[in-house]
Amino acid sequence: MDLKALIREIPDFPKPGIVFRDITTLLHNAEGLRYTIDLLVDQCRDWGAEQVIGIESRGFIFGVPLAYHLNAGFVPVRKPGKLPAAVHAIEYDLEYGTDRLEIHQDGLQPGCKVIIADDLIATGGTARATAELVQRIGCELVGFSFIVELKALGGRQQLPDVPIVSLVAYD
Ligand code: AMP
Repeated sequence: MDLKALIREIPDFPKPGIVFRDITTLLHNAEGLRYTIDLLVDQCRDWGAEQVIGIESRGFIFGVPLAYHLNAGFVPVRKPGKLPAAVHAIEYDLEYGTDRLEIHQDGLQPGCKVIIADDLIATGGTARATAELVQRIGCELVGFSFIVELKALGGRQQLPDVPIVSLVAYD
């Protein structure tokens, strides 16, 4: 199946010069959605993950079915102030300024094997910060799972040396 054909391009969103890769057109295609989840599951199946970490917000969409099919749990990583219980947090640099991600303190146990899931990797900053967060907690990162990879931005090179699945790449 041609997954690329199901992902819509929106030029100049959310700001001029950015080509937004919109996965909602993939999500509303029943065959495309099933194929995508099946492919992710196949590619991550042997990693032995016990938890899937989904990055807000589109990482939740793919992270939960991935966790379900891997017989793993799911733990959300969220923007500041969204999680109700005690959190671990990490600050990371953006092009201008910094951002912060949070995870519940009781969401992960040291030593557990985790996959980090998001819809897309661009510069890799978000996924790298999430990796640092889970490694600080003492988890074993076993891999990353993305639908889309924007290769020209070199995000993959920013990540720790573990397997990285991406289903659709743009140069
Ligand atoms: P980065 O930290 O640069 O790898 O950015 C990854 C995050 O930003 C992901 O959560 C994506 O959903 C979002 N993102 C970045 N660039 C795009 C893009 N061109 N189209 C859609 N989402 C994007």
